[in-house]
Amino acid sequence: MADEPVAIDTAALDRWIRAFAAAIADNEEQLTRLDSAIGDADHGANMVRGMKAVVAKLAESPPANPAALLKQVGMTLVGTVGGASGPLYGTFFLRMATAAGDAEPLDQAAFAAALRAGVDGVVARGKAEAGDKTMYDALAPAVDALDAALGGEDANGALRAAADAAAAGRDATTPLQARKGRASYLGERSVGHQDPGATSAALLIEAAAETLA
Ligand code: ADP
Ligand code: MG
Repeated sequence: MADEPVAIDTAALDRWIRAFAAAIADNEEQLTRLDSAIGDADHGANMVRGMKAVVAKLAESPPANPAALLKQVGMTLVGTVGGASGPLYGTFFLRMATAAGDAEPLDQAAFAAALRAGVDGVVARGKAEAGDKTMYDALAPAVDALDAALGGEDANGALRAAADAAAAGRDATTPLQARKGRASYLGERSVGHQDPGATSAALLIEAAAETLA
């Protein structure tokens, strides 16, 4: 029989966000390199700046509940990250906060629903569709895999399945031609490069699998 799934409380979400910040810092050079191939080379710097501000804010004013934490993360990203990715990641966390509502802790189903609301927010904001070569190509398979796994027998492996799906989605952006964002200006020359935003998004879901399962 499976162990009792981990409840996702404020402290767990704090661990997730800090793990994401650490992963962004560790991968800054890769994100810069990917964005210099098909963009303007600022995705690493944008995300490092934003996540440093997020972690500083968590230390300065620790949020009282999951929704407050997610809202603070979203507001901080909107306020500190320029470019396309700031409003997109900001909207992601703000929509997660709204979906989390008063729940404390979030059970796995509530967390999955909040993640999906976040991904829907990315679409509402950026209008990306599957295959446009954006962060959505990592996020969409992740939430689909999460829901499928939660409906199946291995709820404890659900976040691992989501992270693996995000990584596969990220890898699958390489042969695509970009249809959204700065990379779309390159047309066919965007083919053959992994999308930077899909790369950071896969780090986000990987951090969830490592801290919330
Ligand atoms: P900018 O493109 O303004 O320099 P970043 O370099 O920080 O911003 O982020 C680029 C990433 O943002 C892309 O790799 C892509 O994944 C993502 N992105 C850009 N436009 C969109 C969009 N409309 N919808 C979803 N993601 C997008
Ligand atoms: Mg850029």
